[in-house]
Amino acid sequence: MTTNPFTPEHELLRQSFRQFCEAEIIPNVKYWEENKICEREVFRKMGEQGFFGVSFPEEYGGSGMDMWSAVVISEELTKANIGGLSMSLYAHTYLPLPVVLALGTEEQKQKYLAPALRGEKVAALGITEPGAGSDVGGIKTTAEDKGDHYLVNGSKMFITNGTMADFIVLAVRTGEGHTLSLLLFDTNTPGFTANSVHNKLGMHSSDTGQLFFENCKVPKSALLGEKDFGFYYIMSNFQEERLIASVTGAASAAHATLKAKRYMQEREAFGRPIGKFQVLRHKIAKMAVTSEACKSIAYRAVAEYIELGPAAYKIVSMAKAFCCEESFNVVNECLQIHGGWGYMEDYGIARSFRDIRLMTMGAGTTEIMYEIISKIEMDEVKHEKQFVKARV
Ligand SMILES: Cc1cc2nc3c(=O)[nH]c(=O)nc-3n(C[C@H](O)[C@H](O)[C@H](O)COP(=O)(O)OP(=O)(O)OC[C@H]3O[C@@H](n4cnc5c(N)ncnc54)[C@H](O)[C@@H]3O)c2cc1C
Repeated sequence: MTTNPFTPEHELLRQSFRQFCEAEIIPNVKYWEENKICEREVFRKMGEQGFFGVSFPEEYGGSGMDMWSAVVISEELTKANIGGLSMSLYAHTYLPLPVVLALGTEEQKQKYLAPALRGEKVAALGITEPGAGSDVGGIKTTAEDKGDHYLVNGSKMFITNGTMADFIVLAVRTGEGHTLSLLLFDTNTPGFTANSVHNKLGMHSSDTGQLFFENCKVPKSALLGEKDFGFYYIMSNFQEERLIASVTGAASAAHATLKAKRYMQEREAFGRPIGKFQVLRHKIAKMAVTSEACKSIAYRAVAEYIELGPAAYKIVSMAKAFCCEESFNVVNECLQIHGGWGYMEDYGIARSFRDIRLMTMGAGTTEIMYEIISKIEMDEVKHEKQFVKARV
């Protein structure tokens, strides 16, 4: 892998998206955060300018660029320091849409993917329920086969874009055990209601919903992929959200470190800038190393994903666990460097701290990442043992 994966085309995208953030997002950050607002208008503008579709095929309105273009978007958005809105935008683009692209029929792609990339429809992914998050096989929302339609009953919890979404890629139970399916659920279906979840620690400018499905009639044509294969799809098709989380973690660590360095130049204690204290300078050095390590593993995961697709899940899980854990530690240290002012809203580091806390939970918790990694690691030894036995 080269040290700089970005082409001149990526850099042009970076420049134009940075301008977009400066004009449309950064001036509104304080207001949206304080008032807990997630603006639908931002989705429309993002779509209109083609920023949702950078890594999607041209036939659905995308730009047909590679995953590095999504990295550019994520890195620039992170600099706006508005984790909530960023999460809503990612939960639209990199949670449900790659699944629609991978599994959808041509008709489904035209009906859902293309308008979502244009920013005309807002998308969400509905898996988590009040009683089941990591344990995806434990979901209880059912889709009963009624001949010409499915009848959906149940509820979902913590769904990003849940109250704004026009459609949801919805995980439903269609049989016993791990027999699940995915549906493309239109939120104008009678029997569907959504409440805003407002009492969050952070991510204030994201829309989080609790969803209810009461005898919702869903046409058979809404089935995404094969019936009863939902669990398998969920386990194998959700790598892009983890990649974006890794890149965002790495970018957040670098951004917070920059803030801390700037603060250390301006703040004085004991008659000199705090940047003169060696103990703080070493903290900066350590955080710079950690930020670089995060970027390295995140970029390596992106490169492997481009080459192997979902089969790159081991390095993707490693990057997700490492970047999300370490970026939290870095942001925490940066807040410490800001002293009492870090605890106030004035410098934006308090917001970074609140928002980054979710990273080790969303898109699969760190513990679940370690479960995936340890299984692969232990299987390697098992196969090695079998090989040795066969040789003997
Ligand atoms: C703001 C926000 C936005 C979200 N957006 C979405 C969304 O858009 N769509 C969606 O479907 N979900 C969404 N989620 C849900 C999120 O993905 C889940 O919260 C997450 O997967 C964890 O599930 P849980 O909360 O049920 O925790 P649990 O699964 O109950 O886990 C509790 C603790 O136990 C640990 N644990 C669980 N199983 C194991 C195990 N086998 N081994 C070791 N430890 C284990 C976990 O790591 C965790 O520390 C969102 C959550 C939040 C808070």
